[in-house]
This record gives sequence, structure tokens and C-alpha cells, in this order.
Amino acid sequence: MSAHPTIADTLEQTVDRHPNRDAIIYPRKDQRWSYAEFDERVNRLATALLDAGIEKGDRVATVLHNGSEMALTVYACAKIGAVFTPLNFRLPAGEIEYIVNDAEADLLLFEAETQAAVEGARSSLETVEEYVYIDDDVPAYASGFYNLLESSPAERPDVAVTEDDAYAFIYTSGTTGRPKGVVHEHRSMVEHNLLCIAEMNVTRDDVGLSMMPLYHCAELHCNLFPRVHRGAATVIHHEFEPEAALEAIDEYDVSVLFAAPTAWNALSLSAAESDVDVSSLRLGLYGAAPMPEQVLDNCREHLCEDYVQAYGMTEIGPAGVFQPPEDQVSKQGSAGLPALNHEIRVVEPDADPDRTVEGGEIGEILIAGPCTMREYWNRPEATERSLREADGTTWYYTGDLGYRDDDGYLYVVDRKDDMIVSGGENIYPAEVEDALFSHEAVEEAAVVGEPDEEWGELVVAYVVADETVSADELDSFVVESDRLADFKRPRAYYFVDELPKNPSGKIQKFKLRDDEGDVDSEAETVA
Ligand code: ATP
Ligand code: MG
Repeated sequence: MSAHPTIADTLEQTVDRHPNRDAIIYPRKDQRWSYAEFDERVNRLATALLDAGIEKGDRVATVLHNGSEMALTVYACAKIGAVFTPLNFRLPAGEIEYIVNDAEADLLLFEAETQAAVEGARSSLETVEEYVYIDDDVPAYASGFYNLLESSPAERPDVAVTEDDAYAFIYTSGTTGRPKGVVHEHRSMVEHNLLCIAEMNVTRDDVGLSMMPLYHCAELHCNLFPRVHRGAATVIHHEFEPEAALEAIDEYDVSVLFAAPTAWNALSLSAAESDVDVSSLRLGLYGAAPMPEQVLDNCREHLCEDYVQAYGMTEIGPAGVFQPPEDQVSKQGSAGLPALNHEIRVVEPDADPDRTVEGGEIGEILIAGPCTMREYWNRPEATERSLREADGTTWYYTGDLGYRDDDGYLYVVDRKDDMIVSGGENIYPAEVEDALFSHEAVEEAAVVGEPDEEWGELVVAYVVADETVSADELDSFVVESDRLADFKRPRAYYFVDELPKNPSGKIQKFKLRDDEGDVDSEAETVA
């Protein structure tokens, strides 16, 4: 072990402490490995990667659903200093091409379900020299994952990796533009492990269920990594399926679980109808968005009592702000308080870190802490805009707007680039969308600003709704229900079949603004 541990060292520490405790349980392939067994396989894969020509610093990309193979690959890369580069398994060929070429990946792992997309991109993937396939019927141009594993030795290969080396390129979700490769180092990820262990009180007796995608840093860094570091067990589900998740909670005595609020909603609805025993569950983690009060109530009634919220983004680890269980009700709607070793500030958008706004006002959220990325890969200008030094501290400019209440709790309001300025007034689309959502005909809504000579920008709403509702009806609804000040009312409505979304399901408003969302609808203006 080097002076400061790497991600590979966090696994080896656990092997030393708890060689025989469960590490990975993957029911889909009947795999159940202790820490010693898991580590042995990680070593085999690490050696196989070296034999395939992967050197320290090379990028290993995955286009994989959840599976034990994701866990093996990320730790195998860590052992040899290869840079783990996980892609969303839902990406179409064109987006795989963009990310793999941007990362200049050398090796790509894929599976039966992503084979068609990978093959669609293959002729354009200039840097990939090796393809590895994790299922049966390995295509002729690829190597078989399990063949590689079985034919390699079980000793840790001898490659010097330090805490300052890049551990991964994690691509952002692509909500506000093209996904950007976030370069994370070993050191910052080990720090992030400790943070999550502390904020969620992870112990070796915990059993986690990883059912949210492991290509995203929320599941990988806030859940799998801290559990491995601590010696807790992880059950891996190939994908999220509420009933299967409930059964796994029962069968494996799952104690901790992460899900996005929409998935918590689905899980609690299933639990209400089911008689499986979920009493082992002690804590739920959620993030990506605030949990609606009703969903939290349902979860507390049907799943478990305690929840922790994390707020953050790929660039900072992702978790930099936590809301502990005891604040869930009293600080409903808040994202919580700065995580251990983290500082947050709210400043005038884009201003220097010392230009903080007066108490309670809305501004841009800045975060400083030990888990911040090194840089965006190959994007020096974006890095310079996002990471700024002041008095020896590096601040990450989140691009999110928010405020802190008198007790210091952070409330996230909206994304900075989504804010609308109309007639000199700031309008936060999330508030307008919430008002529209409360109309029963509205299934989805996205509010954006449209350039306007007189007002600067005009508030317009894109709505997916029952056919039965008109622009005038929605307008009367928001006016009469006193939900919105007059200047915030949408002046035009576009009724559309669907909204442009990234593969994680977040609405891409830049496409609505740039009119490239293939929105085929005439505006209905209101008086
Ligand atoms: P891109 O950066 O490519 O546009 P993205 O920002 O959606 O994509 P992520 O890093 O996955 O990519 O998401 C981080 C964003 O998600 C945050 O900037 C914030 O807007 C939102 N977010 C995360 N956690 C919360 C939370 N607890 N409450 C509200 N919003 C959240
Ligand atoms: Mg972002």
C-alpha cells in the first residue's frame, strides 16, 4: 500500500480484515463471493487486462448493465492504474461513438443487450483495440470475459499506482449539453468513501442492494465503494424491478438501499401491495432530486423509517451535501447541510467566491471539498469555468441555483442556465412546472424562456397532457389557484407527445430552447 490508499487498497484492506465475509452476491448468475474470492477474481481480470495490452493510464470503457462484471472491472482497473470509463447502457450507437472517441478508450466491455449499439458504433471507434464480451456466444472480434478470467493467475499484478493517479473518467448525464468526462483521482474517491460510510453509518453487517445503474457515480461511489471499503455485502441486480427488489430485501436481509425518488415511489407502491418482509431495511438513500412529501410518507409507511438525501453532481464525487434522517420532515424540501470536510457558498451567479449573497437570497451554489474532480477530460475551458481558486480553496461552480435558510440548510431551486429573465424579473421554471404538475391532466411539463423583443424572454411551457386540456384551461388553473404570480404565468403552451430527455430520463431543456428537440407543435398563446 502506498502512503495514501488507492481504490484497490480499500478492497485489499477489507480482504485483510474480513476475507470470509460476503462481498458480492449476483443472483442472476448464481454468484456469491467472499472478499477473498472476489479479490482473487479481480486480480485475475487485472492480469488479463495487462495481457490484453492495457497499460497504466489507458481507458477501459464499459457498456454494461449492472452485474458482478462491473464490480470486477472497476477494481481490476484500479489495481493496474487503468482508467475506468463506464457508459450508460442505454446509449444509442451515436452516443457510444461520441464518448468512446472522446475518452480515447483502448478496450471496451459489452454484453448481449448492448451488442447491437456497440456494433453500430464499431467502425467509428478509432482507438479501441480490444473488445471483451461478458455473455455466451462471444462475437468473433471479441474475447470472452470469463475465458480471460479463468486463464489468468490470481496474484495481484505488480503495477505502481498512487493516490494522485486518475481512477476513472465518469461522464456527466448530458442534461445541459454533451456529456463531459469527469476525471476523478484515487485520493478523492477514498475520501468520498469515508464520507459516505460516516453519513450513512455503514458497518460490516450491512447488506446493500445495488439496483440503480452502476455506470452512474451515485450507485457506484455512494454505495458499492463504501460498502467494499467497510466490508459490507452487496447484492447486485441487473436492473431495477420493484418486485424483484422487494424479494431480494427479504431473501438477503438487505439493510441499505439507494434509489432515485421515482424508483422509491415505485418501490413503496409495490410494497403496499406485497406481503414480503422488508423489516431488515434500516436506511434508504435518495438523491438526484428532492423527494416529494407524499412519496416519503409512503416509503416510511411501507419500507423503512429512516432516509438520507444526498445532493451533488458527478464533478464533486457526487455527494457534497447530506440531509440526515432527523431532518427529513422538519426540513422537507431542503437538500441538507454540507457533508463532512465540505463547504458550500451561495454567490451571485458566476461571481467570485467572496461575492456571497445576503442571507436567504438565491444565488449560484459553490462547493469545496476533498472529492472534487481533477478536471474535465480534454476541456480546459470548461474546467477553468467550473473550478476556481480563492485563498487556496478550489471552488466548484455547480451551475445550480439555491439558497440557505437561517439554519444554514441548502435549498436547490433550479439550474442557472434554465432561469428565465422576463421584464427584469427572475423566474425559476421548477416553480412554474410544479404549479402545472398539480393539474391532473398534466403528465410532464418543461418551462423555458423564449427570446422576446419586448420582455427579453417570454415564459413558455411544453406540456405532455391529456388531450382534453387547453392552454386557456391551464392558464385559468394556475391563476385561480393562486399558485403563481402573474409575471410567472406561461404566455404560450406547446402540447407535445414527449419531451427530449437524456438516457437517464432528465429533460434536456437546451433542446427545447434551441428548437432541436423535434417538437412538432404549434404554440397556443394565452391572453
Ligand atoms: P450534465 O452536467 O451533463 O448536464 P447532469 O448535471 O444532469 O448532466 P449529474 O452529475 O448526473 O449530471 O447530475 C447532477 C445534477 O442533478 C445537479 O447539478 C442537480 O441539478 C441535480 N441534483 C442532484 N442531486 C439533487 C438533489 N438532491 N436535489 C435536487 N437536485 C439534485
Ligand atoms: Mg451537470
